[in-house]
Amino acid sequence: MTATILDGRARAKEMRAEIEQEVQDFIAAHDFVPTMAVVRAGEDPASVSYARTILKTMTKRGLQAEAHVLPADVPQAKLVDLVARLSADPKVHGIMIQEPYPKGIDPYAVLAALDPAKDVDGVHAVNAGRLSQAEPVGRGEGPAFFVPATPAGGMVLMRRYQVEFTGKHAVVVGRSNIVGKPMGLLLLRENATVTLCHSRTADLPAICRQADILAAAVGRARMIRGDWIKPGAVVIDFGFNVVKTCPNCGTDNGEDATVCAKCGADLAAVEVTMCGDVHYDEALEVAGMLTPVPGGTGPMTNIALMRNLLTAAGA
Ligand code: NAP
Repeated sequence: MTATILDGRARAKEMRAEIEQEVQDFIAAHDFVPTMAVVRAGEDPASVSYARTILKTMTKRGLQAEAHVLPADVPQAKLVDLVARLSADPKVHGIMIQEPYPKGIDPYAVLAALDPAKDVDGVHAVNAGRLSQAEPVGRGEGPAFFVPATPAGGMVLMRRYQVEFTGKHAVVVGRSNIVGKPMGLLLLRENATVTLCHSRTADLPAICRQADILAAAVGRARMIRGDWIKPGAVVIDFGFNVVKTCPNCGTDNGEDATVCAKCGADLAAVEVTMCGDVHYDEALEVAGMLTPVPGGTGPMTNIALMRNLLTAAGA
């Protein structure tokens, strides 16, 4: 079996065109441009690069996005104050606070200053709580809420490929508040039977093998092997790992490695590459549907974020 590729890049391209139209319609109807503030403390390279992508993607679609960057040693009170000011600013409609937070900052104190109505990445306790209390799809509407953009994008991608959720066994590996846990709740809402796994889960391969839908949000390069996958399963890989793969033994080393941790081969000339949490080549032979990395869930995240911003601005 060769899996159908869930092509996030292609689907995101289609959806970007849809969003551009929605943005134009919104501006024509409301006479203001939906604006997002991206807040960061420190210069974590992945966050810096993600912020750059968000700003570029949004402005290209006619939305407005502005970066608010504080130094890594900023006192917590200053970060809280910035988030409070942005929350109170009527010209700002969406706020995203980037992780990781610098050492010594309590994320919950910062999030307490965030207006849940501007929480376009669904991290405020009000939005997380409403997602956990949400009725299953088709059983009526509760209060509106924002869902973290990464799992929201994963769901959109599966829907675009007509993936069936009802009655399926969905296994999510990872239980972070930003990816794994909300992904599990979204699948539960769609009437899947959900198992959430984590670093203490016993016999993870055996549980993964039961999955009709397997979502990986771990942050460990190619951890999920082909023989962990049920033939025909839908495999959604949120992992985004930067690695130096040893040309001698195939081990994935960290991006800064100079010698292979397993065989000691010299890695100085080896280029860094990106890979997911799923062993793509092995999964391709077993899965029914599979997201590539890059080009799978990643491009859908920005789509979901733009949709959330339009909603926050009142679309
Ligand atoms: P995280 O906060 O570090 O959480 C990782 C989760 O994986 C934790 O729940 C952890 O379990 C679990 N885990 C770690 N080692 C494990 C193991 N050996 N077996 C089973 N579970 C294990 O990471 P995250 O923020 O959720 O991100 C996960 C991945 O998604 C990363 O690769 C990240 O780069 C990527 N990501 C992608 C996007 C996107 O747009 N596609 C967005 C955000 C993140 P415990 O809870 O027990 O520690």
